[in-house]
Formats: sequence, C-alpha cells, structure tokens
Amino acid sequence: MSEHDLNYTELGFKAGLEIHQQLDTHKLFCNCLSELVNSEPEFEIKRKLHAIAGETGDIDIAVRFEAGKDREFTYQGYSQNTCLVELDESPPEMINLEALKITLQVALLLNCEVFPVTQIMRKTVIDGSNTSGFQRTVLIARNGFVETKHGRVGIDTVALEEDAARIVENDKDKNKVVYRLDRLGIPLIEIATAPDIKNPEQIKGVALHIGDILRACRVKRGIGTIRQDINISVKGHPRIEIKGFQEPRMMVVTAEKEIQRQLANIKNKKLDKEVRKANPDGTTSFLRPMPGAARMYPETDLPLLNISRDLINGIKANLPKLRSDIKEELKGHGLNDEMINLIVSENKLDELKELIQINSDSNLIAKMLVLWPKEISIKEKISLDEINKKLTLDVLETILQALNNKKIQKHDIQNILLDIVKSKSVSEAIKLEKQSNEELEKLENEIKRVIKEKPGLNINAYMGLIMAKFKGKVSGKEVIEMLGRYVKG
Ligand SMILES: [Zn+2]
Repeated sequence: MSEHDLNYTELGFKAGLEIHQQLDTHKLFCNCLSELVNSEPEFEIKRKLHAIAGETGDIDIAVRFEAGKDREFTYQGYSQNTCLVELDESPPEMINLEALKITLQVALLLNCEVFPVTQIMRKTVIDGSNTSGFQRTVLIARNGFVETKHGRVGIDTVALEEDAARIVENDKDKNKVVYRLDRLGIPLIEIATAPDIKNPEQIKGVALHIGDILRACRVKRGIGTIRQDINISVKGHPRIEIKGFQEPRMMVVTAEKEIQRQLANIKNKKLDKEVRKANPDGTTSFLRPMPGAARMYPETDLPLLNISRDLINGIKANLPKLRSDIKEELKGHGLNDEMINLIVSENKLDELKELIQINSDSNLIAKMLVLWPKEISIKEKISLDEINKKLTLDVLETILQALNNKKIQKHDIQNILLDIVKSKSVSEAIKLEKQSNEELEKLENEIKRVIKEKPGLNINAYMGLIMAKFKGKVSGKEVIEMLGRYVKG
C-alpha cells in the first residue's frame, strides 16, 4: 500500500508541531551577546551532573536514562558571550525585556491570550546541555490559533526559554562530552500547537504559516536558529515525537513514512512513547524515551513576571506585517511577482509606499528601489550596501520630482542613479541628463531640418551630413539610432 492511499481521518491521524526559534537580542537572563563563536575557546571548565527528583518526588524516566550514563562534561566559553550566569555561579538577571516584547508580538500574531502574571520555571535537563541541570522557561500565552487551507489549528502555548549549550564533541567511548556555552541562554520562543493537524500536508502548511509570523518579528536567521519537532500518532499507537527538521518540505515525507512505521508497529511489538530523530531521507531513528511530567519546578531566584495591559496594548498597536499580507498589498499596487519578491526580500515596502505618494508609477519605483541598484551592483562591482547608502529616500524623491517637472525623462533615471552611485550629487546628475536631453533635442531638430531640405537621400548620406555638422559632439551610434526613426533603409 502506498502512503498516498492512506485515509488519514480513518486512521485517527493526529499531529502537533513544536517550534523553537532563537530571538535576535542579547541573552535571556544576562547581558552577554547571543553569538556563536568558532575560534579557540578562551576557557574550559569540567562538571559532573546527577539526577535530582522533580516536584512530584520521582526521577523522570528521561532524566534517569541520561543520568545512567554518568558522563563528565566539559564547557568552553568566551568572555563576550559567557558570564557567571552561564556558569551557574551567579543568579539570573531580570528577564530580557526586548525578548519578552518579541514573544508578545508573536503570541498576538498567533491570536493567543497573554498571561497577566506568570512564573518563570526550571525544567530539569541532565544531558549536560545546561550547566545548572535545568533550563529556565516561562509560559507567556495560550489558546491561540492559525488558519490554514485545511482548517484551523489551535496554538496551545507560547513560551520563552533559554537555549541550551551546544555539543562540539561527543566521545562515547571515553564517556566525554564537550559543550560550548555561547548558545546557552540565547532567548528561544517555543510555540506548541494543539494536536489538531489532520494530515501530513497540513503539518507543512502550519509550519510555513508560523514561519511567516516569526520572520515578521526580530528573530535570528539561518541554519540552526529554528528547530521544529512534530508529535504524531495514529489510533492505537502512542505519541511519537520527531525532532530535528530543517525544512517544512521534509515534514510531509517524514510524517508519511512515520505513519507507515506506526501501522507496522501496532501489529508487531510493545509500544512506547519515544522521541525520534528526523533523518535526511524522511525516515526516523530512536533518540530517547519520551520525558514525563516530573520536570518542572519554580525558579526561586526570580520574582513573578507581570505583563501589564499597557505593554500588551503598545505591542498590539504596532504589530509587524506578515510577508503574505505585504505581498497581497503589493499586488494591489499592480506589481508583478518578481518585483514583489524583490521588494519583500530587500525590505523596501516602506520606501515604496513613501515614493508612490510622489509618483504613482509603482513599477518604476520598484525598479529604482530594487532592480536597478542590483544591476549597478553587479556591473560596477559595488556592494548593495554602499549603493543603498547613496540612493537614499531623499535622493529618490528628488529624482521623481525632477521627472514630475519634466526636467528629466523616465529613461534617464537609470543613468542618473549610476552617476550618483559613482559620486555625483543628485542635482549634478539630473543637470547632466537634462543637458544631454537638450543636446539630443538639438540633434533631432537638425535631422528633421536636413531631411526636409534634402529629401530622398539614403541613410548613409544623411549620416555624413549630420556628422560633419556635429563634429565630435555626438556619437555615431546616437545619430544612426535617431536617423532610423525618420529614414527607411
Ligand atoms: Zn552571560
């Protein structure tokens, strides 16, 4: 049976997503930079960790699994991204307000209810990825939703947590793990959907939609800055968590394969909740048992976190626009898809809206903002950054006003931009184009005059007459082009 023949409703397919995204601020509970470093570490410390009981008095099954390994951990650090907080030798500082605000933006874009008062918690972690043996996490909002074309999917919770240290070496024979502390404490937003997802395609749809929301806010970009896990099961099989997706496209294939695996599993053996890892080919492999609930207890070093109505209202009033909404808006201005994608990826929406007030030719403005600067950059080998510094909003406004006042023509603008990038002032560049326009006008009048005076000559004869008259002042190419408009052959 092929996976495409499966009826997911009949199978009792259930899936939810858990997304972790790093935020682009300093660390969550200290002032260190949120930057990963690949040079030699400035210092190293060694620790051993032991399992401790959670608030229910039990040692969690996942915790016991890790503690049973009795490993020694080495931690590497750098002064710019590691302080006593990462080393667990100093209590945490107050939560990073910027990170909290970004989390509130995301929560509101996900239609969630924000908790007015919330408690920062410690989540037991004993794989050594946290020097303290726990990860701090705080619930910020709940009960939201996203709309997809397969229907609405609930958002159970939005939390703000600290990222863990990253493994740089794992020597299983020597029972030795080396972690780097640069990543420990980077703010992570954790979004957990309800298990409302009805089929593999919808998993991808939800992931893309949430990704759109995250990108509209101040989050880190690039590989490793977002981690997406899927919880998935069919009727009769315990929930399985699959970790480590890099791109939503693979979610469909992996979910289809996982359902096949579970269906075979139901007939065969004892069934356990477990955490599995997503492989690049869409298959999964066992990672560890599923953690239970005995993992959380309050962070007593920090007070309750109050999230005021004023703070929420301020953020609500300035919510960022989603890419999908921006694209719709740009379509309304009559731009084609290529231009829309350029405007969005170069982040030029505000400039476009500003300039449309001066001249309503949205395609011309889009070219001035994104297309021609790119062409100049490639042709002249000047970085886009340098070009954008010179082609400021003021400069572009001046050019459009010159166009409105008929001082220049539309086809002059590309040259004017180039002149400005090559360090002419905007008024000089406009004047130059105006002069060359006036000269061309003179040339055109002369051509018309000669043709009227001596009709019926061939194009080469006219060419000779004109070039003699304008010796050295015009290019042969221009004369030929212009003659072509008046003389056939
Ligand atoms: Zn620090």
